[in-house]
Amino acid sequence: MEKLKNKNMKNCIFCKIIKEEIPCYKIYEDDLVLAFLDINPIARGHTLIIPKEHKENIFEIDSIVLERIVSVAKKIAEKMKINGAEGVNLYHASGLSAEQTVFHFHLHVIPRTKGDGISFVSAGQAKAIEKTEFEEILSKLKID
Ligand code: 5GP
Ligand code: ZN
Repeated sequence: MEKLKNKNMKNCIFCKIIKEEIPCYKIYEDDLVLAFLDINPIARGHTLIIPKEHKENIFEIDSIVLERIVSVAKKIAEKMKINGAEGVNLYHASGLSAEQTVFHFHLHVIPRTKGDGISFVSAGQAKAIEKTEFEEILSKLKID
């Protein structure tokens, strides 16, 4: 199992970016995280923030590192706003079912302007939920 994990890290494109084996357009770097431009941007300035230590997803990443990623996202969002973004989407995928394609944790920071044609909303998926169902969901997801 440990061997398999090492192998995944070895082939991980984002680990290669961290090790500077492949180039990136770097926005920010500190002891825990790296932020760089997405190679296939949804919008001009689309940025990815990743942990320097290989962690596959939200389930593996340490909360401290995640907190740093979020605070860097805020700083980048503020820069985007100064440079003309009217809004920002923070987007993250953990797992195949969530449409994650690179299996090294990353948070997308996407600048938005009115009428840019981007949409994260899936129409027609909403379904009415009964009170009992809300309560059952609550009993499963509530945290201390
Ligand atoms: P996901 O689909 O996992 O949420 O997002 C993966 C993102 O990584 C995609 O937006 C994709 O364009 C970006 N990406 C994949 N390979 C590279 C790369 O080599 N360099 C950079 N800068 N971005 C990449
Ligand atoms: Zn990695």
